[in-house]
Amino acid sequence: MIKTRGYAALTPKTPLAPFDFERREPGATDVQIEILYCGICHTDLHQARDEWAATTYPVVPGHEIVGKVIKVGSEVKDFKVGDLAGVGCMVDSCGVCPDCQDHQEQFCNSMVFTYNSPDKHTGKMTYGGYANNVVVDQRFVLHISDKLDLAATAPLLCAGITTYGPLRHWNVKKGDKVGVVGLGGLGHMGVKFAHAFGAHVVLFTTSAGKAEDAKRLGADEVVISKNPDEMAQHTLSFDFILNTVAAPHDLDQYMTLLKRDGTMCLVGVPDSPHPSPNIANLIFKRRSLAGSLIGGVKETQEMLDFCAEHNITSEIETIAMKDVNEAFDRMLKSDVRYRFVIDMATL
Ligand code: NAP
Ligand code: ZN
Repeated sequence: MIKTRGYAALTPKTPLAPFDFERREPGATDVQIEILYCGICHTDLHQARDEWAATTYPVVPGHEIVGKVIKVGSEVKDFKVGDLAGVGCMVDSCGVCPDCQDHQEQFCNSMVFTYNSPDKHTGKMTYGGYANNVVVDQRFVLHISDKLDLAATAPLLCAGITTYGPLRHWNVKKGDKVGVVGLGGLGHMGVKFAHAFGAHVVLFTTSAGKAEDAKRLGADEVVISKNPDEMAQHTLSFDFILNTVAAPHDLDQYMTLLKRDGTMCLVGVPDSPHPSPNIANLIFKRRSLAGSLIGGVKETQEMLDFCAEHNITSEIETIAMKDVNEAFDRMLKSDVRYRFVIDMATL
């Protein structure tokens, strides 16, 4: 077993603190990665504080992992010691079901999350990337380009694919009018990708102070969602809206902005339900309300390659490991520009 240092929450109410644990020795198809940076996703906060009532403690969060390969198993062909590598939200799946065969492993019934998921190797729960190393089957390890800033690449592993995936699935393209709701970790990547795909991008925010940043990141217009008059100016005009908000809110105020046949896709997972949407807003105008979960491994690699080609990374604030609890609190206040990334050298 490999002695590993990390940070864990031991209960929903206590701050994350240093936690020593063991990883398995890499098997024939495994890759061991020295973690250099790990992004902080709002999911980490939901899980550490048991906001989804599904956390087993201790929990070591972290699923935006980048680092250097330090060991590979005998059957690993695609990675070698010294390569840059990344790991996102998943570390295993059955590999044979229709979802896996379609490269949509995130929907496999046997998919294993990077943390807080039953680990068949250890019989315990998986432990995530707030740690100095990770051991993952090669099928779930991504290639990371050395052209991009490594710390700013980490958030692509979750915030990147979670926004790239639905924008691609709903075929966002030049000429489309696309809304992104919330300028946080996911939202700012949504703005960057929708802009890169040629759409006219409108950012909806509750934070007036983020308007300038949004424009710099690629938004053509910014709407303060608390202002009904500003909202009303966009009625019946959107092809697609990507909603990244992490808290319950009124969905109808966005549904009415969609054109006939438009779709709003939710990716935020609040700890309590949104107020029920008005079904008439779906029926009249044949609109859709949809959801999306991260993305498959193949599409995650495609997204990373797209980012390397188009020089796209996350806007980050790098923090020391010991400051993770403060970062959680700032994230809750929407005070993140626009993703915290832990420098593991500080662990
Ligand atoms: P984040 O960085 O905290 O960003 C969320 C943004 O939502 C905030 O910056 C804020 O933007 C807006 N917001 C927050 N509270 C709000 C409220 N009460 N009303 C309206 N807007 C509010 O979080 P994140 O890391 O991007 O994650 C967002 C959500 O997606 C979380 O629930 C997370 O668990 C979920 N998630 C889902 C998937 C998936 O696969 N579906 C993957 C990753 C994360 P403004 O200041 O601009 O208003
Ligand atoms: Zn995430």
